[in-house]
Amino acid sequence: MTTTQSALPLILDTVEVMRVDRLSPSFVRFELGGACLAEFGVEGPTYDQRIKLVFPGVPGGPPPSFEGVDESWWETWQSRPAEERGHLRTYTIRSVVGAGVDTRLVVDIVVHPDDHGGLGPGCDWAARARVGDQLVVLAPRRGHEYGGIEFRPGTANRLLLAGDETAVPAICAVLEQLPVNARGAAFLEVPVGADVLTVQHPEGVEVVWLPRDGAAHGTRLHAAVRDHLGAPFLSATDVDEVDPDLWETPTYSSSGEDVDSAVAVVGHDLDDVYAWIAGESAVVTGLRRALVKELEMDRRQVAFMGYWRRGVSMA
Ligand SMILES: Cc1cc2nc3c(=O)[nH]c(=O)nc-3n(C[C@H](O)[C@H](O)[C@H](O)COP(=O)(O)OP(=O)(O)OC[C@H]3O[C@@H](n4cnc5c(N)ncnc54)[C@H](O)[C@@H]3O)c2cc1C
Repeated sequence: MTTTQSALPLILDTVEVMRVDRLSPSFVRFELGGACLAEFGVEGPTYDQRIKLVFPGVPGGPPPSFEGVDESWWETWQSRPAEERGHLRTYTIRSVVGAGVDTRLVVDIVVHPDDHGGLGPGCDWAARARVGDQLVVLAPRRGHEYGGIEFRPGTANRLLLAGDETAVPAICAVLEQLPVNARGAAFLEVPVGADVLTVQHPEGVEVVWLPRDGAAHGTRLHAAVRDHLGAPFLSATDVDEVDPDLWETPTYSSSGEDVDSAVAVVGHDLDDVYAWIAGESAVVTGLRRALVKELEMDRRQVAFMGYWRRGVSMA
């Protein structure tokens, strides 16, 4: 079933759906397996480790083959016809089960109604996929630098994790890998009450699920985070400009800000907090403004990541 491209410093290979579980109205869990995953590995916890999945270009069809590719695989892949190339999207490793050739990557994919922007190929695949279906995974190969873990709390004493449903797999994975003495709070906004999942977490980290139940996307998350930090609530949609590619971490700024020039407010109430926030770009942009501009949190203590954009395909 699989081919091994040992020349590449990452895994780029076909995997198979070994198991499918509908966890809730909005989450479908997949266990992806293949001999290539025997080579999977990262240094330390996987936390919010991102991977890429390549879905078949034609629903029910075969995924693209990467057999025999070399370092120029990206250019070669881009030059293929669209229906052959398939669709590449980003997801999180929720957990890893098994070992050796039986290693499986567990991935939770959000299925959502069409919001008039059309259903994306990732969501569409997740809604139909069955055991035995094939796709391609791009993931870290043991012993090689891959990147893709943004959760880096350093020496912070208090954690703030916040996200919408697309960030639930990452937040849950982080919660389950934190040291037992970790402290802080996690806010997870999900479409409906039935999407509240069971997650293990340290006693000192409060976990708050926020079902939207029809409220505007991000409103409950925004209010809960502001309330937690002691900031007065403004409307979550009160965002003048959405940064479409929002990705601001202590080491990288999508807007080109000079990361090292961030000025810390000395003696700030929040200077022992590390915040990790991900989800729909407008929602994350609003939270960024609240934390960095209004509350003057040191931006080296925060990671803000736009995981998707309403009405825009992440192709
Ligand atoms: C680092 C990282 C980790 C991620 N981890 C996960 C994960 O573990 N699980 C997961 O499900 N997603 C995750 N995402 C988000 C996922 O990549 C996006 O939601 C992506 O747009 C899904 O692709 P698609 O083909 O379904 O839709 P696209 O083709 O990208 O978009 C098509 C339409 O669907 C809309 N859309 C996309 N996602 C949603 C949504 N969740 N709700 C409502 N409308 C939506 C778009 O706005 C657009 O109108 C992650 C993203 C990043 C950057």
